[in-house]
Amino acid sequence: MSPTKARVCIIGAGAAGLALAHALSSRAIELLICDAGKAGQGAIAASAGMIAADAEAAESLDPSSSAHRAFHSLARHSAQMWPLWSETLLQSTGIDVQYRRSGVLVPGDDTGHAAHMAAQAGRFAITARDALAEDAPGYPLAPGALFLPGEARLDPRALARALQHAVRTAGARILEDSPVERLVSTGGRITGVQLAGGDVLNADAVVIAAGWAAARLHACADGLVPVKGQILRLDTGGDTSRWPVVRGDGVYIVPASGGHVLAGASVEPGLDDTRTDTATRDALMAQAGRLHPDAPRWRLVDHWAGVRPAFPDRMPRVGEAAPGLFVCLGGHRNGILLAPALAEGLAREITGEGRDGHLAPFAPSYG
Ligand SMILES: Cc1cc2nc3c(=O)[nH]c(=O)nc-3n(C[C@H](O)[C@H](O)[C@H](O)COP(=O)(O)OP(=O)(O)OC[C@H]3O[C@@H](n4cnc5c(N)ncnc54)[C@H](O)[C@@H]3O)c2cc1C
Repeated sequence: MSPTKARVCIIGAGAAGLALAHALSSRAIELLICDAGKAGQGAIAASAGMIAADAEAAESLDPSSSAHRAFHSLARHSAQMWPLWSETLLQSTGIDVQYRRSGVLVPGDDTGHAAHMAAQAGRFAITARDALAEDAPGYPLAPGALFLPGEARLDPRALARALQHAVRTAGARILEDSPVERLVSTGGRITGVQLAGGDVLNADAVVIAAGWAAARLHACADGLVPVKGQILRLDTGGDTSRWPVVRGDGVYIVPASGGHVLAGASVEPGLDDTRTDTATRDALMAQAGRLHPDAPRWRLVDHWAGVRPAFPDRMPRVGEAAPGLFVCLGGHRNGILLAPALAEGLAREITGEGRDGHLAPFAPSYG
């Protein structure tokens, strides 16, 4: 596609759609982003904001598979882009997304989780006692405790604000409360979208970045399912700014501003609602208590839910799906981590600058 006067329509203003718009906005392209609701209110607003490529890879159940290796390579590539992305957003918008190289601590317990991670993490991990001799914030460290120093975290709600600000300032139009009803095709090529109200918007390229709801738009998103996640914001009453992210078996604690931490998250496949319930809240509190002895005394400040978009193999799909149609889908529990790599790689593909090798294993297929 020639970028001169080209028009790209992105369906979905979540992490995937906004990040892609940010990557495209520096190119000579007219950008239109349609969202069924409000921009930046999807899973990004519910997220914990971990940029944890090595921890995600180390927790994999199938580390010897080629898919695992491709995912880890993509995730590391994206994690390395975050310092520059966050700095660029700060310079262009004045919004600090609070990217911090906090590291990930795996304190260890009797579940064997730390031992499993130690076996997978290899050279990316060091002994927690050595790393945290001066600054282990009350986490009891089992003998096998690990520290992954390259990992980071950010504030995902600040990120949503910064991405919106950046793309609007660059001239992109974001149409809120504008659900896309169907794709429009002409002569075997996707040439636009039809909104629920009947309006047709023409485009040289259409990108589906509609999260878990994308399956109703095109067959290339078949299999995509919602995975609900609930998460808590807790007030520790202290300063958590220098705390690492802490991960146990099925639970994590992420430092946030104001002495707060986020404790999450539930994994509820097949559910697409954002209701919260007390049973899940109590289970998350109990799990957090197994990581940190003070957690039961931390004050509950907020409790919310979001919906992750996941393919059955838990891998993303990104790239051209049909003539005139591209997708950026299936971020599952890593949609923030992966956002820069998926966005920059897809922007290059849309504008004909070439295909990023990191994305090749995640090309969509259908039919
Ligand atoms: C509790 C929780 C914790 C998480 N923690 C992390 C983490 O620590 N690190 C990490 O990397 N990831 C994390 N994630 C995952 C991450 O948040 C998601 O992978 C990512 O936000 C998905 O973004 P998306 O843009 O693909 O989808 P969505 O956020 O679902 O956005 C899709 C957008 O498309 C819109 N849309 C849908 N259908 C239509 C239509 N027909 N027309 C127009 N618009 C439409 C929706 O309104 C929505 O705004 C977490 C998720 C949850 C729920």
